Parts: sequence; structure tokens; C-alpha cells
Amino acid sequence: MVGSAAGAGAGLCIHQVTLMESCDFRQSTECLARNNVAGTAVWRAKLEEIGVGQAARLLADAGVRAVSLCAGGLLTEPGAAASRAALDDNRRWLDAAAAIGAATMVTLTGGLPNGSRDLEAARQRAKERLAQLLPHARAAGVRLALEPLHPMVCGYRSVISSLREANDWIDDIGAGDELGIALDSYAVWWEAGLAAEIARAGARIVNFHCADWLADTADVRLDRGMPGDGLIDNRGIWRMVKETGFAGPIEVEIFSARNWWKRDPDEVVGIVKERVAEIA
Ligand code: ZN
Repeated sequence: MVGSAAGAGAGLCIHQVTLMESCDFRQSTECLARNNVAGTAVWRAKLEEIGVGQAARLLADAGVRAVSLCAGGLLTEPGAAASRAALDDNRRWLDAAAAIGAATMVTLTGGLPNGSRDLEAARQRAKERLAQLLPHARAAGVRLALEPLHPMVCGYRSVISSLREANDWIDDIGAGDELGIALDSYAVWWEAGLAAEIARAGARIVNFHCADWLADTADVRLDRGMPGDGLIDNRGIWRMVKETGFAGPIEVEIFSARNWWKRDPDEVVGIVKERVAEIA
């Protein structure tokens, strides 16, 4: 291992999306390395800009581990052709995740198809297609990390909104450990009974994402706060996740068009490290 994995950031993962507008793939990898941050979650659009081979080399050279690939899934479009296309895309993305050494692929159900109001049908399609991806995930050695998102983005991003639903789906599908859960504090901090659902999820939790919910949020998707600046008890949620036996890193995932994306990446990473030290 390269020395950059040592130090205060060794148990930390900062998603590429946190440096979305200041860094391309190479710049964000180098920024994390020089700040001793051991892991990143690779953003699919950034991966597609440079290709899997170059991405794997950049990560290896920098000593930065790809914790996961974000995001696959998007499984709700109706029709046989759309189903085939979505499954083919996801199989390619799973192979890409394996090629960069990512243990998981964060998987979103997708939202309600254009013109549709049939939420239950969209959920049913997503669940069935998720089940159909399991053999390929197993073969690729990459776990699908199903991520419920906040109900405000149900329309266009995720037709499941709670950890309870994610647990129910995995029970229904009857999956093995090729299907887990990405728990994002920003998505589920509001959920009644969250502690019980975290305990129920147990070893299913394969990724822990955090950000903060700003009291004056201007955009529920693109105005995430830095942990410590908002309403989420990240420290308490992290403690519950740790109690399940979770051994992965804290992953900081901040979509922030009006603030953090505009700042110098080294400054952002420095502040992330300070804030995570207060959670862990
Ligand atoms: Zn997330």
C-alpha cells in the first residue's frame, strides 16, 4: 500500500460527487491522496469520461480505494425493451465496478416514468429487475447496495424512500449477500423507527453515506449540507450502524451547487475530515 492510506483519513471515504464541479476524475483522486483520504466512491459519469482502464490506474497510482460505484439501477421504465436495456446497462456497470475494485454498486430504483402515475407498478418493475441482476452481481463479485432516497425525490430518483422498504424488498427477493443496502443519513434521517430498521438491516448495510439536512435547504437534491451544519444526528446514526458490526468507512456525499461545489477542493476535504472526526 502507498503511504497515502495512512493518517486521519484512513477510515474515510469522500465521494467524487462532493468535488463534482472543481475536479475531474484525476484531480479528485489526486486531491484525496494528498489529503490522506483512503477511499472514494466513483461517480459513473466521471468514470465514463476517462474509461475503466485509466480510472483503475489513477486510483492504484494514488493509493485511493474505490469503495463503490455510484450509481446504477434506474429500473422503472416500462416495457420489454426498456427492461433489457436497463439490465444490460447494469451488467456493464457491475463489470466496471469490478474492474476498478469497488466492492459495491450503489443501486437506485429510479423514479416514476414520464407520464405515469402508477407508483406501485414502478416499484414492482424495479423489484423484479433488481432480482434479475443478482446472478450477474454474484459473478462479478460486486454487491448491489440498494439505496432508498428521501421521499421528496420519489418522482424522479427512487420509488422507495425508507430503510423499512429496503429491508422489506430484500426479504421479499430472498437475496443472499449479493444484495445489501447503502444507508444515507440524508435520505432516511426523518424515518420513524430508524433505529429498529438499522438493527433489522444488520449486515445488509454495506455502505454508510452522510451529509446534513440544512434547515433552510433550497433544493432537496443539490443543496446538501456539510455534516454538522444541519439537523441530522449523524453521530447517533453512525453509532447505530457501527453496532450492527459495520466495518466500512464513513462516506461523505455532498451535492451542493450553491456552496461546497464552488469551493477549493482541498479546503472542502479538510473541512470534511474535521467534521467526520466529530462523528466517528
Ligand atoms: Zn447516498
